[in-house]
Amino acid sequence: MGALGSGLGGGVELTLYNMAQAMLQQGHSVQVVAPAGSTLPGISLIQVLGALQITAQTQGRSTPITLPSNAVLANMWEYARKVQSEYDAIVNFAYDWLPFYLTPFFVRPIAHLVSMGSLSDAMDQVIAHTLSQFPGTIGMHSRAQAATFAFADRCRILGNGLDLSLYDFCPVPGAALAWVGRIAPEKGLEDAIEAVQKTNTCLKIWGAMPDESYWQSIQRSYPHASVEYRGFLPTAQLQAELGECRALLVTPHWIEAFGNVAIEALACGVPVIAYRRGGPAEIVQHGKTGWLVEPDSVPELVSAIGRIDEIDRHACRHQAEAEFSLHALGDRVEQWLRDILGC
Ligand code: UDP
Repeated sequence: MGALGSGLGGGVELTLYNMAQAMLQQGHSVQVVAPAGSTLPGISLIQVLGALQITAQTQGRSTPITLPSNAVLANMWEYARKVQSEYDAIVNFAYDWLPFYLTPFFVRPIAHLVSMGSLSDAMDQVIAHTLSQFPGTIGMHSRAQAATFAFADRCRILGNGLDLSLYDFCPVPGAALAWVGRIAPEKGLEDAIEAVQKTNTCLKIWGAMPDESYWQSIQRSYPHASVEYRGFLPTAQLQAELGECRALLVTPHWIEAFGNVAIEALACGVPVIAYRRGGPAEIVQHGKTGWLVEPDSVPELVSAIGRIDEIDRHACRHQAEAEFSLHALGDRVEQWLRDILGC
């Protein structure tokens, strides 16, 4: 659905980068295949031309699966088919029907990292079919994400991880709150804006903007909110600015598969205030590294904003170090692939 580095792929972009880094650090060799225009510093990258996919989250549950002509997805898998014998395993990061359908036609095993919850009947069906033919090959980020599918108990839960050396701990924040993510309806930015309007706080916003009309409509709805859109920044700049915020607000209206931004904030020592659902509810330690509040409740967000100072920023960084290091992620991914390969 986009080149790596564009932000259109959401958290998958950072996840892919981190998993590739983690595998390299464990001594493996990694080749990434991605749409043309991608950037991935320090990692060998094959760029493939072609037309992009429509994002699954903008489609209905029963919308038929489509591919544009000269689809980049098809071209990438054609490349993978040709070179497969040079590799031990292939990892699919695309939330798309085609790679699952193609799995039995490949000689090399394919591990599928599913990056979102259940959104489409056709996807659910092809993932379930793949799982029944190739047990153990479906990875997910959180238990809550897996629970949106009928086969939750047969999924491998991998969590996520970060290169913590890229995130600086910031002990003393400024006054602003943060919101980070794709500016899209399922991410619920309007709830965070309503909460800052009610608390007279400034909200700094970072993220890719796939649909500008949505951003304009929420700005019209909250004309008195103090919001500052800072654009989509590379990790180095994002973490420097995010670290200076008092807390991160995570307000998705869907079941967030994981929520990379929550662990990025913790890595900088920034407490996380999140709706108690999906991945963030499995990340935030309520009362210790942030506050989990009733989903879709702006009044609860407001009262949690009033309790930010009860959270010790050191505890946030410590949680990131203990649970979300690149090394811990690398161990989990390596074991997953070893189990698939039987080695
Ligand atoms: N992000 C970024 N720069 C920005 C804002 C966001 O690189 O200015 C990245 C962020 O690091 C995270 C991703 O965008 O990896 C958002 O991922 P998340 O898992 O929170 O949500 P998704 O978009 O996948 O639903």
